[in-house]
Amino acid sequence: MHDFDNTQIAFEYKSKYELKKALLLFKMVGSSLLVKISKVLVNIALALRIPVAWAIKPTIYAHFCGGESIDESMPVVRKLEPFKIRAILDYSVEGKESDEDIRAALNETLETIRSGGTDTNIPFAVFKPTAFTTAEVLEKMSTGAEVTDQRILAEANKFRERVNTLCQEAYNHNIPILIDAEDSWYQLFIDQVCEDMMLKYNHKQAIVYNTLQMYRTDRLEYLEEAHERAIKGNYFMGIKFVRGAYMEKERERAEKMSYPDPINPTKEATDKMYDDGLRYTMEHLDRISVFNGSHNEASNHLLTQLIEEKGLERSDSRIWFSQLFGMSDNISFNLASEGYNVAKYLPFGPVKHVLPYLIRRAEENTAVAGQTSRELELIKQELNRRKKEK
Ligand SMILES: Cc1cc2nc3c(=O)[nH]c(=O)nc-3n(C[C@H](O)[C@H](O)[C@H](O)COP(=O)(O)OP(=O)(O)OC[C@H]3O[C@@H](n4cnc5c(N)ncnc54)[C@H](O)[C@@H]3O)c2cc1C
Repeated sequence: MHDFDNTQIAFEYKSKYELKKALLLFKMVGSSLLVKISKVLVNIALALRIPVAWAIKPTIYAHFCGGESIDESMPVVRKLEPFKIRAILDYSVEGKESDEDIRAALNETLETIRSGGTDTNIPFAVFKPTAFTTAEVLEKMSTGAEVTDQRILAEANKFRERVNTLCQEAYNHNIPILIDAEDSWYQLFIDQVCEDMMLKYNHKQAIVYNTLQMYRTDRLEYLEEAHERAIKGNYFMGIKFVRGAYMEKERERAEKMSYPDPINPTKEATDKMYDDGLRYTMEHLDRISVFNGSHNEASNHLLTQLIEEKGLERSDSRIWFSQLFGMSDNISFNLASEGYNVAKYLPFGPVKHVLPYLIRRAEENTAVAGQTSRELELIKQELNRRKKEK
């Protein structure tokens, strides 16, 4: 197994003060009761318009986000650079649907693409499809049935045009663009639009990347079918692999609406499907570029092994490793120090609007069955190492 345990490399960019702050943060999010209470309190504060940014910004926000704007995030991009860690500016405002919000998200995302086009430490752009239309449109266009409602069709077209604007800008700046995946009931339409964009912009290399959530039972099959279409259409594919962040929500909806659970029955099944996806793309690198968005050590190790087995350069531009800023530095920094391509997702946006993202991160790092989280363990290890070094 790959050595992801070198905490000296992992946390070289963090001062003792920053590490102690992170220790406290992970201790706090380690308590599921505290996370639940905080979630309720934050929601109440937001409903009553009580300001919360003063408490959140220097703590959990600073740990997981770059800043409220691109400019505010740039010092983090520069801080990561000497360690060969690249950054992906991720405008993480969620759940907004008005025309004005959509326009703001479009402008902000276009700016990130332009930043990527001029800054060598920003290798990808990214966006969430839900930022560019309403939930209703994505859901109605994703049932598989023919849509006749002219209002929905017109809105769907606007979505297509917005996505096209982003992909075209990415193409013009020669910077690949990742399209995130969210709820499965929106994905059919998003997949169709992604494939249209690949056909349009991926004729020389993978510029547009779709995201496959491998916790879904059908994604390996989708990968193979999409690959067939790419061969027929003679275009390249970019695939970002993730396990998927919305498992509980998916299961609850399936149960409530009485349709088969779209998620693999066990964690082991998801792990296997994820790794099979990596293996499949590495067999077809001639056409598919792979972006490995994972904090799972075994899957990251597997990809390094496949690179070696195939005799490829570690820095092959078709293969990327990525983790979220504020998580799994042990994986990112150790891989980067060995010459692999590594980029951190660096979320940014106004504190209030980034809260759903932060809540997901807090929940993800909550202790399971009384175990200390991996992050907490590693930070403790590094603080101890530094103490002994003195
Ligand atoms: C760079 C990057 C980009 C991301 N982009 C997206 C995105 O576009 N869309 C998105 O949804 N998420 C995205 N994520 C979040 C990602 O889905 C979660 O971080 C991820 O699920 C955690 O899995 P892991 O690979 O780190 O490994 P692990 O921590 O080993 O796996 C945990 C995951 O396994 C799955 N799992 C857990 N228990 C079960 C079970 N009982 N049955 C079946 N499956 C189970 C779930 O997906 C769970 O989240 C991104 C993450 C990264 C690092």
